[in-house]
Amino acid sequence: MTLDLHADPIDLTAALVDIPSVSEDESRIADEVEQALRAQTAGFEIIRSGNAVLARTNRGLGSRVMLAGHLDTVPIADNVPSRREHDSAEGDILHGCGTVDMKSGDAVFLHLAATIDNPAHDLTLVFYDCEEIAAARNGLGRIERELPEWLDADVAILGEPSGGFIEAGCQGTLRVRLTASGTRAHSARSWLGDNAIHKFGAALNRLAAYRARTVDIDGCEYREGLQAVRISGGVAGNVVPDAAELDVNFRFAPDRSVDEAVEHVREVVQGLDLGFEVTDSSPGALPGLNRPAAAALIEAAGGQFRAKYGWTDVSRFSALGIPAVNYGPGDPNLAHKRDERVPVEQITHVTQVLRSYLSAG
Ligand SMILES: [Zn+2]
Repeated sequence: MTLDLHADPIDLTAALVDIPSVSEDESRIADEVEQALRAQTAGFEIIRSGNAVLARTNRGLGSRVMLAGHLDTVPIADNVPSRREHDSAEGDILHGCGTVDMKSGDAVFLHLAATIDNPAHDLTLVFYDCEEIAAARNGLGRIERELPEWLDADVAILGEPSGGFIEAGCQGTLRVRLTASGTRAHSARSWLGDNAIHKFGAALNRLAAYRARTVDIDGCEYREGLQAVRISGGVAGNVVPDAAELDVNFRFAPDRSVDEAVEHVREVVQGLDLGFEVTDSSPGALPGLNRPAAAALIEAAGGQFRAKYGWTDVSRFSALGIPAVNYGPGDPNLAHKRDERVPVEQITHVTQVLRSYLSAG
């Protein structure tokens, strides 16, 4: 037996790390996870979708919690098999590719599926493929298209590394291209021209002086940001330029829709006679922590929660109307690094918090 789901989740993490599973090469780990779930859990309906494994109980418990984790890792960097050692500063440490992102989270979920015998909620487990590569290949996206009935839950927990905090919601992002136009002329006779680059002076001043909001939503603090991220223009060293472009990126709190974010950026540059084009946008996700199933999770974690920055698969669930959080062992800053490692005590802690949340009192 390769994967012993009843073993300590620290040992189970090590066993998962020792099955290499770089994106698009997850068939072996998916086989092992599927076999272990079939042989070592009771009361789960289990299906396979490509290299994803899905399992759920149907006990009629009145609420459903989804535990989701990706099985793939980034390419291995001489850091498989796993290695455990004692560090005098950091304590007991498990090293290896996936110890943080995110086989420790997977191990916790697999262990709980096999060992909780008085569940408070029905459970759905989703172990999926191809999270670390282009979004179009993402296994969770495929499940959403092909098996949407499996993604129904009152709250979804993604076991991504979150340093022991529950990370909720995420910010939206918007890119706008501002364009300026003028009249080209020889710079020796500049009075005949109209300089397009100079027209960004006022826009840059406004952006530099912009005071971004900090918003509190359900107790999570979101800090917005509006930044010029790219500027281009110019013809030659002796020409007054007749065209220039300025790209602006707005990271906005999830209490604004994409349309409201666009409107806000428009207001910031109002009256400047610049072209305005939206080039890219993704909505934010509200944390939804006021819903009962999510609130109980926060309580189980001792109130340790914070806003998630950036865009993750949490947003996928939020788009489906399911409150979703990241909660898993490990420091997210160590993900994808050659010296990826997790203090084993964090694996134990996350297991304890989720065991108490998922068990009936
Ligand atoms: Zn990950």
